[in-house]
Amino acid sequence: MLLTHHHFDHTRDLITLGANASYWQGQIEVYALQQTFDVLIPCLLDGKMYVNFREYPSKEEPSLLFRTVEPYEEITIRGYKALALPVKHSAPTVGYHIVSPLGKSLFYTGDTTIGIFDCWQHISPQLLITEVSGPNRFEDRLKGVGHLSAQLLKEELIQFKQLKGYLPRVIVIHIGSPYEQQIKEEVVQVAEELEADISLGYEDMKIVL
Ligand SMILES: [Zn+2]
Ligand SMILES: [Zn+2]
Repeated sequence: MLLTHHHFDHTRDLITLGANASYWQGQIEVYALQQTFDVLIPCLLDGKMYVNFREYPSKEEPSLLFRTVEPYEEITIRGYKALALPVKHSAPTVGYHIVSPLGKSLFYTGDTTIGIFDCWQHISPQLLITEVSGPNRFEDRLKGVGHLSAQLLKEELIQFKQLKGYLPRVIVIHIGSPYEQQIKEEVVQVAEELEADISLGYEDMKIVL
């Protein structure tokens, strides 16, 4: 499991997954920045909220194994290369560039706002998974709390194309549910304007590269 940052909507299932792993006598390796663990451990895994799955069922073989990642340092996880790249958000956040043993690649930005450009120097993904948290009319507010609108995403993609000469396939997630229909319309418009393959992600989506 790769964690981008500590925010609750991105980490709340860690406890449930830890519980499931203990039922099945398995172990889950959890990768994140040290700053992410520094918030997570005292808040979610203090042993008071629920079981501390870093030490349960035993200290020797706990359900959750925490592994610290360093930005810009490529690691290999079961044959997949993973590179954590810092992105701008309201908490310390990294996106992950993943390359499969066959060379298929994706970049998941995590929660982020304008300024993804810094990442493009390091990677050329086939697939970009990113966010659009709200509609264009909330652009200023979204920027202020470290998120993207469809229009802001468009500007990031234009920068990508100028640098790389192509656009990756894009899947948009982290959609503010009250605005889903409007976000969809605004994302479709960006896709048409850029002649890009951009679609909205959904639960249980399977993606073949
Ligand atoms: Zn967040
Ligand atoms: Zn979030």
